[in-house]
Amino acid sequence: FHVPPAVNEPIKSYAPGSPEREEVLNTYKELYNSTVEVPCYINGKEVKTGDTATMHPPHDHKHTLGTYHKATRENVEEAIEGSLKARQEWADLPWEQRAAVFLRAAELIAGPYRAKINAATMLAQSKTIFQAEIDSACELIDFLRFNVEYMTQIFDDQPESTSEAWNRVEYRPLEGFVYAITPFNFTAIAGNLPASAALMGNVALWKPSDSQVYSAQVVMEVFKEAGVPDGVINMVMGDPVMISDVAISHPDFTGLHFTGSTNVFQDLWKTIGNNIHTYKTYPRIVGETGGKDFIMAHKSADAKQVATAIARGAFEFQGQKCSACSRCYIPKSLWADVKKYLVEDVKSFKMGSPEDMGNFVTAVIHEGSFDKLASYIDKAKEDKDAEIIVGGNYDKSKGWFVEPTVIVTDNPKYTTMQTELFGPVVTIYVYEDEEFDDTLKLVDETSIYALTGSIFSTDRHAAAHATKALQNCAGNFYINDKCTGAVVGQQPFGGARASGTNDKAGSKLNLLRWVSPRLIKETF
Ligand code: GLU
Repeated sequence: FHVPPAVNEPIKSYAPGSPEREEVLNTYKELYNSTVEVPCYINGKEVKTGDTATMHPPHDHKHTLGTYHKATRENVEEAIEGSLKARQEWADLPWEQRAAVFLRAAELIAGPYRAKINAATMLAQSKTIFQAEIDSACELIDFLRFNVEYMTQIFDDQPESTSEAWNRVEYRPLEGFVYAITPFNFTAIAGNLPASAALMGNVALWKPSDSQVYSAQVVMEVFKEAGVPDGVINMVMGDPVMISDVAISHPDFTGLHFTGSTNVFQDLWKTIGNNIHTYKTYPRIVGETGGKDFIMAHKSADAKQVATAIARGAFEFQGQKCSACSRCYIPKSLWADVKKYLVEDVKSFKMGSPEDMGNFVTAVIHEGSFDKLASYIDKAKEDKDAEIIVGGNYDKSKGWFVEPTVIVTDNPKYTTMQTELFGPVVTIYVYEDEEFDDTLKLVDETSIYALTGSIFSTDRHAAAHATKALQNCAGNFYINDKCTGAVVGQQPFGGARASGTNDKAGSKLNLLRWVSPRLIKETF
């Protein structure tokens, strides 16, 4: 199987005076000054139901970007029936044609749509341009390109044959439709969840996060222009409970591709279990959910390197990554230096709107997130076993701004060492140097989630020992690097325990969940 070699899309620098900087800023302004109306996309039709919700930039919440239309129960049913009609033709297409559609989508994002996808992500999700470029444009391009390569690796996996019997495996799509529920934080993940299932020949019902609809629409435009046929990917917004109810009570529901909160995923799983007798086939359940990701340092670690990793891991994109560092374990002998560098770093971060390229931190996604973070910060101000060493302020007058905040605690089970906050708050526990082994045990015992984690150590033995001791605490484990920033094609991403089914986004493993192989034995 011969396909164009998958390469990671080079990240543009957006340096002052560069054409890409000017283009994205102009597009940002244009979008900011216009009003959109996002329809549901159902079987190639743009459906405006009249039941709308408004969209606002999190960093400028009094400004309106436009509205999106919410689907009715009938609309969702129509989307599912339409996709089931489109299914056979799509599944029967030679795989090269499906691959070409998504490779074309990658090139559209790399070229003519790059500025629009980035500007829309800056507006809808308050990412800085650098984050939008990396986490949205480039990562989506990478997912689309690498998945084509992984698909061919799957096709290559064939059983032995003899001169009398030819055994072959056909990697057919699942029988039914895949339901994709996507998060606000990565435009790339939002696009990839329906696209990866569709690449393998499936049809998908896509429900984007309410907070990401604005940039999801641009992804839909790209899919359409790239040649995804009507009905193959339908996008519906609206009441999540109703949409999920229609989707997962349908007899042709055949898979859930989910990124979002642990609670929602577990509730969906329960309902799927309750409905199991109604389905034609056992549905595939693939989910990436919460995280409480850690950075641990050994006494041999380099303090500056550790501090930089915490600052970047915890605060880039306002800590709104499943992989973001939110708890740290630092040995006492290193703490004074780590603290000095970390506080220096955090104080140097500028906070404000993403269109000001000098800002490192922008607003958190919405009022609910702001309120939650503010309440944990207030509690830390009062609690005897917690101390805020930098940050701790918040302001919602213009946008949902929460300062990067570092809490130090002497209680390794302190609430913010355990609860996922999904925002710019990190908590640090300082351990006695000689309690390295006990601390490893503690990390393991308190890891309800197991998404990402890091060990910093210049002592190779200590690093190897920690890697073994923490084997169940992180699906993505980093030695001497921060716990964020997995790159498609290089670090397949996903976690276990309460963090998900660990079917690694951007991998062959993930695509294998979207096929139902048929073995054919032919004798002569
Ligand atoms: N892949 C991302 C990273 O490694 C995180 C994805 C997520 O937040 O879901 O930082």
